[in-house]
Amino acid sequence: MTCEKAFDRYLGLDKHDRVPLSVTLHLIGCPACRTAVRRVTKAERILAAPLAVYPLSDAVPAADPVVQEALRRINASGLAFPQGFSEEGRVSLTRWLASGLALAAGFSILPFSQIGAWSRAVFGTGYLVSYFLLCGVAVTAWCGLFVGTNIDLFVKKFGFEA
Ligand SMILES: [Zn+2]
Repeated sequence: MTCEKAFDRYLGLDKHDRVPLSVTLHLIGCPACRTAVRRVTKAERILAAPLAVYPLSDAVPAADPVVQEALRRINASGLAFPQGFSEEGRVSLTRWLASGLALAAGFSILPFSQIGAWSRAVFGTGYLVSYFLLCGVAVTAWCGLFVGTNIDLFVKKFGFEA
């Protein structure tokens, strides 16, 4: 994929859209496009800051009944700008962290549990090889899934200077 095509596809995305895999792969291999994407993201953030949408409870209610009616109609029509990231189809970072901690805690505790004692008694210390292989495969799979499903966030947040 050429730089121009990849960048056009990136610019064609709506806000908070997931970056397609082909564009992500191009961004990983192309420092110039990665820098451009990072700059576009930074510029968008700077430009949007004054327009930030505050929760309704924090907003000062407009005194003008015409403005109040207009805001009510905008909200009722569903045209109001969506707040924050669309979490649809995405596992939250808190859940990723919790699952990673559960995985690490499980592998740390297991050798000292009854299962670990039983395994040592039955298989000797030979079970440790397969146990550590299982740990390695599980941690690698978890990291692969975490990075693979959140790679667009990594590319947007941690792009490198060319
Ligand atoms: Zn490029």
